[in-house]
Amino acid sequence: MPFNVKKMYINGEWVNSQADQSREILNPATGEVIAVVAEGTVEDVKHAIHSARKAFDEGPWRSFSAQDRASLLLQISSLIDEHKEELAKLETMNNGKPLREALSDVETASDAFRYYAGLVRTSLGETFDSTIDSIVIQEPIGVCTQIVPWNFPLQMAAWKLAPCLAAGNVSVFKPAETTPLSAIRLFELMSELDIPPGVVNLVLGAGRVIGNELTSNEHVDKVSFTGGTVTGKKIMANSIETMKKVTLELGGKSPVVVFSDVNIDTTVEYALFGIFLGAGQVCSAGSRILVHEDIYQEFIGKMTAHAEQIVVGNGLDEGVEMGPVASEAHMHKVLDFIQTGEREGATLATGGKRIVEGNYGKGYFIEPTIFTNVSNNMSVVQEEIFGPVVTVQTFSSEEEAVRLANSTKYGLAGAVFTNDFSRALRVTKSMKAGTVWINKYHSVNNQLPWGGFKQSGFGRDLGKNSLLEYTETKVVNMNIHSSAVGFYKSFSDNS
Ligand code: NAD
Repeated sequence: MPFNVKKMYINGEWVNSQADQSREILNPATGEVIAVVAEGTVEDVKHAIHSARKAFDEGPWRSFSAQDRASLLLQISSLIDEHKEELAKLETMNNGKPLREALSDVETASDAFRYYAGLVRTSLGETFDSTIDSIVIQEPIGVCTQIVPWNFPLQMAAWKLAPCLAAGNVSVFKPAETTPLSAIRLFELMSELDIPPGVVNLVLGAGRVIGNELTSNEHVDKVSFTGGTVTGKKIMANSIETMKKVTLELGGKSPVVVFSDVNIDTTVEYALFGIFLGAGQVCSAGSRILVHEDIYQEFIGKMTAHAEQIVVGNGLDEGVEMGPVASEAHMHKVLDFIQTGEREGATLATGGKRIVEGNYGKGYFIEPTIFTNVSNNMSVVQEEIFGPVVTVQTFSSEEEAVRLANSTKYGLAGAVFTNDFSRALRVTKSMKAGTVWINKYHSVNNQLPWGGFKQSGFGRDLGKNSLLEYTETKVVNMNIHSSAVGFYKSFSDNS
């Protein structure tokens, strides 16, 4: 079936790639082409940035009050709610995640717009004692480029666009090249609203082709990026010349520390949920389990048995608990990591293979995979695999658990499971991570700041932090009594 090429949204219009290039978009569960989209070029990006610049500097957007912007965000939230099932289905077909996960992402996306609509109408600046006569105001920064990965396409779009627009900025947004469909649909919905041309722009295409322009163009004031640490470093380097504000939400290798006093069944389920949600393609995936040696045998036995019962399949099918990984190229990357783990001497407790029987062979399915007998310097322990692969190690003391937990270059998230309240807090405080869960995993709330320590990046999405990171701080000092400076003698002589 021929497809109409889905276009980019620039300056309030739907446009084709200037080079007339396009890209096929696949369903990772079936390998089928489900859409064809425009493939943007550097010229398209320049056009979008120019439109955004003009909209920010000269357009009516600057006169939109916080109340006006909040009203727009609420309308976007309502449109997402009205199209919830459609958006979730699209996300499942493009990314592969089970429908229940996609539905939860759509709800989070809608809530992000609602949250920032409310937050921007609260007090953001400061005022001081009347003898100082100063105020501090938070102003929008200007043109923001926003780049996201393929694991939470719609949710990431909302996490970026909502605070950016709430604060009064304009955006040039780029989804991942393999999963643009839910973002395109979001822009279609936004195009129904009275948003001035150039305020929201959607560019499509490969990061390695158009990424440089998005992150180095002199008319861009801020770059907000979510993706891999290697890409994040390139973006940071690109932004130096014009001193752009940068927010980087990068990779992780998050530890799950399990002490011996836990309820083993409950904790095993959290451990499985921590790694196999989104087929392990979650930045905060609990990909390193650290278990106290006293309960290791029982823990690994139960974890393996339950992992083997996870229902893997097409995310649109009822009862599916884990979908495929998002693309063929990514599947091969994950399988390569598994082979490296085996070569380095780790033991496969379960999984490790692509699933190829029947219809599975058309998609990019990998078995839920658990490695044991790993040493801490192995690449499966140190590197972000970003697939359904977890390592399990043991420890004998709290000190050793903390040392192992902090022993990678990442610091996005972590968890501690224990019934000892003091121990839970001690370990939490020692963990170098932007989020620590105690006796749970993966809960995220739009009100809470989200981001990493160490090479997991800097700056924060979500919460009040994110709104402030889309603003410049301006101090205004006033002379409200028309008093003279009184510095030069000649002025007092003449008066
Ligand atoms: P990636 O870095 O390859 O790509 C992310 C985005 O950057 C895509 O849109 C891509 O087109 C673009 N890109 C690629 N090269 C670029 C360049 N040179 N300049 C500008 N943009 C470029 O990451 P990925 O493989 O799509 O996503 C997986 C990574 O994202 C993982 O490392 C994961 O941990 C991370 N992630 C982090 C968070 C977080 O909140 N910290 C959330 C989700 C995903």
